[in-house]
Amino acid sequence: MPLPTPGVEGTVRWLRDRPYYEGQIRTHETVAGRTAAFADCEVDERLRAALGEDGVERLYDHQVRAIEGVRDGRNAVLATPTASGKSLAYTVPAFERALDRRATTLYVAPQVALIEDQAETLSTLADRLGFASGVTVERYTGRQDREEKAAIRERQPTVLLTTPDMLHYGILPHAHRLWDWFVERLETVVIDEVHEYRGVFGSGVSLVLRRLARVAERFGADPEYVCCSATVGNPVEHAATVTGQPSGSFDLVTGDASATGPTHWLLWNPPEYGDGEGWGDGRRRSSHTETRRLFVDLVERGYQTLVFTGSRQTAERYASESAKQLRKRGAHDAARSVAAYHAALTDDRRREAEAGLRSGETRGAWSTSALELGVDVGGLDAVLLDGYPGTRMSAFQRAGRAGRGTDPALVVLVAGEDQLDQYLMGHPRALFDGDPERAVSNPENGELLPDHVLCAAVENWLSRGDERWFGEGFPDLVTHLESTGDLRRRETPDGTRWTTDGSPHHSMGLRSIDDREVQLTDTRRDEVVASLPFEDAMRDAHRGAVYHHQGRKYEVRELDLDHRVAELEPTWADYYTRTLHEKGITVERDITEKRLAAREDTSVRFAEVTMRKRITGFQRIDTNTGGPIGEEELDLPETTLRTRAFYVTVPEDVERSMRAASGSFAGGIHAAEHAAIAMLPNEVLCDRRDVGGLSTPLHPHTGRSTVFVYDGYPGGVGLARAAYEDVDGLLGTTLAMLRSCACEEGCPACVQSPHCGNANDPLDKELAVDLLAALTDG
Ligand SMILES: [Zn+2]
Ligand SMILES: [Zn+2]
Repeated sequence: MPLPTPGVEGTVRWLRDRPYYEGQIRTHETVAGRTAAFADCEVDERLRAALGEDGVERLYDHQVRAIEGVRDGRNAVLATPTASGKSLAYTVPAFERALDRRATTLYVAPQVALIEDQAETLSTLADRLGFASGVTVERYTGRQDREEKAAIRERQPTVLLTTPDMLHYGILPHAHRLWDWFVERLETVVIDEVHEYRGVFGSGVSLVLRRLARVAERFGADPEYVCCSATVGNPVEHAATVTGQPSGSFDLVTGDASATGPTHWLLWNPPEYGDGEGWGDGRRRSSHTETRRLFVDLVERGYQTLVFTGSRQTAERYASESAKQLRKRGAHDAARSVAAYHAALTDDRRREAEAGLRSGETRGAWSTSALELGVDVGGLDAVLLDGYPGTRMSAFQRAGRAGRGTDPALVVLVAGEDQLDQYLMGHPRALFDGDPERAVSNPENGELLPDHVLCAAVENWLSRGDERWFGEGFPDLVTHLESTGDLRRRETPDGTRWTTDGSPHHSMGLRSIDDREVQLTDTRRDEVVASLPFEDAMRDAHRGAVYHHQGRKYEVRELDLDHRVAELEPTWADYYTRTLHEKGITVERDITEKRLAAREDTSVRFAEVTMRKRITGFQRIDTNTGGPIGEEELDLPETTLRTRAFYVTVPEDVERSMRAASGSFAGGIHAAEHAAIAMLPNEVLCDRRDVGGLSTPLHPHTGRSTVFVYDGYPGGVGLARAAYEDVDGLLGTTLAMLRSCACEEGCPACVQSPHCGNANDPLDKELAVDLLAALTDG
């Protein structure tokens, strides 16, 4: 039985009185609650009765707007917060259509856990309608074996829940043979968590959904798409990119009309340590330990509390440390009810944790991003964010777990040392009022397109008209695939057709581009510890690297790229390693160009580039001081990345005055490059590791000193393009971030980057500020 929870405001006062409180609360912002707004909506009588049994008496305004649009044959994007009842918006049309004419619905979600959760809810509702209704729900994922799958097709469900991966290799290639009954009657396609379809995965899924639309058209089906999204900056544009439907066909439904209580947000900055000089500068007490203290206090005070943290290991470790602390305080019941939640849990443990949170039996949990998606765990009293999750979208998705009905809720963002964390501590309005980040994917990615076009040729012969699904590069691509023998041309009375004899579906995955992997083997135990993509292995598993895995530390003895193995041995080293590299960029083709808003004479270009990189050595860094303690050379092959980038040249007068000032010009452009990359996730949904940069005092293509920011994936996944489109905004927030950092020399919260291949040398924060100010008029 949950304890009565003391008022949130009283609790905030109490936190300020705790012995460890040293002024960590930078901001206390109260986001007001809402009363519910209902709307009238005609719903099939049988369905209305079944929903009533589930406690749904009336529909919210936002649900009704989506339902009515879909009934009118429009597509819908619902961009509303977690737990706003998005699922009813598609459940009502899907079930009505099934009741009326056995029309089918395809529900696609990125995670099996979400499918399991959704399937249970929908099955319960179908059961309430009774067997005679003809409405049935089935899941079709990697969890079902061959026979179960055959039985599912035999039963011909009206609602099918699947992953994009299964749609890609389990459904589309067999559409004509095994799924004709389903596709012919397909009237509704639900794309849940559409914001998750970004980057490489999102670009691949966008192509799978184009293939679905082609096949549906072949069967004469013309389904409506209902896309559910977190709050992003471009919901319609993104849903259109992912589904391949025109943006004008979508109704945007925002504005959650369900009732909520007020949310008290605390921005909590762990105190600084160090002497204000050298390596200690800008270092702060760990966000994990600060979060653990808050967690233990809140759980003991009767708050059901959920922490979101970065990794599985952290979730496991701090869940058990928190339990230990609670036991020490004599709170044995609370200690027993602390859980860890992440994607690697077994099904049973995962469900147990979800049920515990829902019933209130679990009083506190440490979770990874796994709970960010829509799995229902009920509302909690408090959510702690252990470090800024990198985007406002994720921060608000996670915070949305707090709030029980109309009771007040508490959300605490505990900042880490990174640029974005510290920027928000200084600019809380950017968190609460800033525009949401944009979600991007690139279905025209030249690395992904050929495989998907071959898949499409298996699913249904290709014709010239398919250009509308696969973009303007399609005709050239078909000519190329014909010349390699992958496609066969056939002239028919209806025009040219292309077919293929291959079966490409199984040789490609949706979640990465380069499938080559290196196996990391613990030579003492003779067991494989992990496997890494080829390029990651060169960075993280080169000879001499210290590699962390599941709380163990290893040193890499040897990396054999030919046999794709790395030999590891356990180590007690108290240092970590960081690679050094050389990079060069060749501009292959400028795609487009524009002028900076504040500098008519300065252009920014978006281009196709080749990035060459060679890891030349690595540094050992002392874990305690963060200072370097040695360096070694490495002999590794050069890698190339053909991708997209944007670049800015430094205007002549700006360069002259930067060079005239005291400091390092090269350090100025390098620092500006790091800072802009760190701030990119403020505009576009990505991690800063998804992009890379290069700054050079003289680039042959421009004849000037130039800063490049490139997309880290072959062919580009839309990141550099999105950054190019809003380059003025990006430079502006980068400048604001640099100016608000109190350090003098540059620190991890402004210009240093843990991913730098030049060991953060040279860096000149002051000149970076001068450069950005000149480029933005700031
Ligand atoms: Zn700084
Ligand atoms: Zn660097």
